[in-house]
Amino acid sequence: MSEEPSPGPVVDAAFFRRWLVAAAAVIDREADQLTELDSPIGDADHGANMRRGFTAARGAIEKEPPETPGDVLAQTGRHLISTVGGASGPLYGTLLRKAGKALGDSAQVTPEQLRDALKAGVDGVAQLGGAAPGDKTMLDALVPAVEALSFALDKGAGLIDALAAARIAAQEGALATVPLQARKGRASYLGERSIGHQDPGATSSALLLGVLADTAEQSAAGGTG
Ligand code: ADP
Ligand code: MG
Repeated sequence: MSEEPSPGPVVDAAFFRRWLVAAAAVIDREADQLTELDSPIGDADHGANMRRGFTAARGAIEKEPPETPGDVLAQTGRHLISTVGGASGPLYGTLLRKAGKALGDSAQVTPEQLRDALKAGVDGVAQLGGAAPGDKTMLDALVPAVEALSFALDKGAGLIDALAAARIAAQEGALATVPLQARKGRASYLGERSIGHQDPGATSSALLLGVLADTAEQSAAGGTG
């Protein structure tokens, strides 16, 4: 814990563009699985929705790369809102737009800024969707992830370790949606029959946070002196 602090990855616009490219690839790879999770408790489109949104966002951002971290996230959010039909489009769109806005026009983001931006984004999701942890939604992965990130940073962890902790918390949070009864979104129409299935949105949130942790790890590889 109190070892020589490593410099940590540079979290700039290119970092978030790498995150987006990797996120689009992981969503593409996992789309069938996400849609399968959305079959018993939804309308079997979550994977297709996410794939359409992330593919469009990646294409637009690669064509005209935004210059600040905040703009990469905010514009990605805008593309998700305009291309994803389901509930997840506006929700993830809001998360990224709010996170982007919170970063302002910083050219490089500190771990604390990233935590605050993610927190602002997740608060935006809660506000827009009216859900809370325990309602069997993406918030069941997102909220514990931000808490784990925050806890790790407060303990003096670097960004890579803090994001690794966030990734694990998100995965655990997604798994923990299985026994829950849905209280928000389409799955809530099923009442008790929503119990026993993993929430697709919590699962995609865990994937996106996992890619963020990977991006940090890979950005630092070889970069430490
Ligand atoms: P739709 O439900 O419109 O078909 P998707 O299938 O793309 O949209 O996304 C479903 C996911 O969206 C759910 O698994 C859940 O995680 C998330 N979700 C739905 N409603 C809410 C809400 N009110 N708040 C937070 N997340 C929600
Ligand atoms: Mg759906």
